[in-house]
Amino acid sequence: MGQDKATRDRVLIIGAGPVGSVLALALRRQGVPILLIDQLAAPERDCRAASCHPPTIAILEELGLLEAGLEQGLVSPVFHYLDRVTGERVGRFALPEMQQPPAHAYVLQWEQYKIADTVEAMLNADDGARIERSTKLLGIAQDEDGVAAIVERADGSTDRLDAAYLVGCDGGRSTVRKLSGIGFDGFTWPERFIKIDTRHDFTALGPKISNRNYFSDPEEWMNLFKARGEDGSGMWRAVSPTLPEQTDDALLSPAAIEARLQKFCPKPGSYEVVTVALYNVHQRIAETFNKGRVLLAGDAAHVNNPVGGMGMNGGIHDAMNLAAKLGDILLRGAEALPLLDRYTRQRRKGQVDGVQAQSIANKQTLGEKDPVVRAAKLAEIRRASETPDLHDAFIRRSCMIDSFAAANAIE
Ligand SMILES: Cc1cc2nc3c(=O)[nH]c(=O)nc-3n(C[C@H](O)[C@H](O)[C@H](O)COP(=O)(O)OP(=O)(O)OC[C@H]3O[C@@H](n4cnc5c(N)ncnc54)[C@H](O)[C@@H]3O)c2cc1C
Repeated sequence: MGQDKATRDRVLIIGAGPVGSVLALALRRQGVPILLIDQLAAPERDCRAASCHPPTIAILEELGLLEAGLEQGLVSPVFHYLDRVTGERVGRFALPEMQQPPAHAYVLQWEQYKIADTVEAMLNADDGARIERSTKLLGIAQDEDGVAAIVERADGSTDRLDAAYLVGCDGGRSTVRKLSGIGFDGFTWPERFIKIDTRHDFTALGPKISNRNYFSDPEEWMNLFKARGEDGSGMWRAVSPTLPEQTDDALLSPAAIEARLQKFCPKPGSYEVVTVALYNVHQRIAETFNKGRVLLAGDAAHVNNPVGGMGMNGGIHDAMNLAAKLGDILLRGAEALPLLDRYTRQRRKGQVDGVQAQSIANKQTLGEKDPVVRAAKLAEIRRASETPDLHDAFIRRSCMIDSFAAANAIE
């Protein structure tokens, strides 16, 4: 492809969301030069992901990000399951009380835009990293020697960027995946999810509320989480399902938002609502995460419903796994294809058996409509929370401890 050495050795990352940013940093920690591009002029403020599970916290520590995470985030050692119909707490799961707790026995509520911002500041101070914003990927060409991206800049001009490898971290609608003809099988749930960010402090509901709460309800389940928010003063995030026939206008009007919150937790006066968003929800996984010199990571490779907070975590696990393999190939002369095929095997396993299965089960448990099945599922959660071995196994599944280890063990 007629590249000079500097471009021949670098990795081009498309997408500066949390996964592309962490991949860039993990490659730089090994000394691999990177170019990170994003179509947006500035990082997105949308707070989708906020939960970082213990294996992800260990990665943040390894990359030198944990100090910032602890400063900007919220440590949540406990999570609760509740029955929204009776108002009763069904289960309490405490990471520090595990018989063999992980090194970091908590979930870190650190909003994804804060992770991306923190990494971007570190990359901006690094000569081996270049970030180009307002730069959109339009096309890809690859041969045995390298890969080239055709990009469009804000002024409408186009340019060609060469690299040794190109990684699509460009989200669920990934242009990289589509341009590479990689299938994305799975399904879309009929209902959309609505997310409401409010400053109202739900700890007023008493000790049954922790920073992370799952409310089961056959009519309208609810996930209620606390994060630190933009100014650090606290922001609660309430995620619940909508009905397929409900329109945007019917769901997003201030009166509808107020009614949804009042129905969940009646209180005098109105709620202070900061942001509201509607999401289509999918369970899909790319048929492969590697095609020649093109790779996929994060939502570009897999999407899942957000119950349990696993999407970004899985993407960060992809990023760490891939960075180590690209380092071996580019710096230590390892043969590329076996390692990149192994990347797909390992991370698809983490997705299929871990994230996809667990997030589907989480959603079904919360929204179960059959009264007999529902009672059995809640009884199972209660028993798990009261039985040490079951308690620990429940946390290991919910907090991605088992799926992370199982994926890494694949040859
Ligand atoms: C309500 C909700 C709550 C969630 N909560 C959690 C949680 O608690 N924990 C968790 O782990 N996950 C959670 N998730 C999932 C999480 O938000 C995603 O998994 C995560 O954003 C994926 O990160 P990413 O970097 O792969 O993609 P994205 O965050 O989508 O970033 C993709 C980037 O690529 C850029 N881009 C796209 N196309 C192009 C192009 N052609 N050229 C250049 N740039 C491009 C975009 O501008 C964007 O910056 C949640 C999701 C939702 C909807």
